Amino acid sequence: MSEHVKCLIIGSGPAGYTAAIYAARADLKPLMIAGLEPGGQLMTTTEVENYPGYPDGIQGPEMMDHFRKQAERFKTDIRYSFVSAVDLSSRPYKVVVEEKETILADTIIISTGATAKWLEIESEQRLRKLSGGVSACAVCDGFFFKGQDVAIVGGGDTAAEEATYLSKLCRKVYMLVRKDFLRASKAMQHRVENTPNIELLYNHETMEVLGDQGVTGARIKNIKTGAERKIDITGFFVAIGHQPNTSLFKGKLDLDEQGYIKTVPGTTKTNVEGVFACGDVQDKHYRQAVTAAGSGCMAALDSERYLSSKGIH
Ligand code: NDP
Repeated sequence: MSEHVKCLIIGSGPAGYTAAIYAARADLKPLMIAGLEPGGQLMTTTEVENYPGYPDGIQGPEMMDHFRKQAERFKTDIRYSFVSAVDLSSRPYKVVVEEKETILADTIIISTGATAKWLEIESEQRLRKLSGGVSACAVCDGFFFKGQDVAIVGGGDTAAEEATYLSKLCRKVYMLVRKDFLRASKAMQHRVENTPNIELLYNHETMEVLGDQGVTGARIKNIKTGAERKIDITGFFVAIGHQPNTSLFKGKLDLDEQGYIKTVPGTTKTNVEGVFACGDVQDKHYRQAVTAAGSGCMAALDSERYLSSKGIH
């Protein structure tokens, strides 16, 4: 006999844990499969200063520990394993854990998040791991570079938006674009072009992020002319896109052209009844811990209402 649960949560970032807290308090006895990177993106973040309720800020991993403890306090069953397959073709849905065990679930809350893309050059990764001024989130980390010179890589809407955000805090923002045009929307292009302290460097690639313990500069190359130069910066931001973690759901749920799960606006409902999505896996615009947590709460409430409507108590 397979284990049968009312509410199965896949993923353990702020969205998943918040869904767990609400679902557990509503007596849905949630089972959470935490995934390969328990805690999600905040586990590789240092100081979090913009999550309400922490007036002095908190380290990302410590905050996720608090989320976990709060979910456990209401008896969420958290398992440190991963989902290897799902079958959403009939109810109850089937979720295979580590290619072995099959769990039956009346509702599923998907909170598998998204992964920031990096340039994957050695110096970027080394300084990122040292928390030495390399970041994939300007809204999270821009504050630490107030009055300083920074660079941001990318030419899409995210890079343009984050460059504009940084320009309000920093003295100077170099925007490194590998093509000779911006992919961002016209409105964002105009905003970037009309911001005096953003210097757009088209046809530029990053060869190396400089610095031992923290960023001191970057060696960049004009790929048209081959000319290399050094820019002096203390922060290096990468905004070249995110990859939503949705490979499990391809062909099973409606995804948008970039692979994000589509939800009914104003809800966390997917196109399959009883399956809900929250957090970055369905959000390419805000990507904040607090917005993810908010949508996790919505997913638990949507799940509870769905179960009631089906008479499952
Ligand atoms: P995009 O995929 O749109 O853009 C990625 C950018 O990064 C491109 O300019 C790309 O260059 C560049 N890039 C990719 N890989 C590298 C690399 N290895 N080295 C250097 N540059 C690289 O991602 P975004 O995150 O900007 O946007 C994702 C989606 O979200 C888009 O649909 C966007 O419109 C949407 N969005 C909308 C917002 C809004 O409406 N306010 C805000 C933020 C995002 P190249 O052009 O050469 O491929």
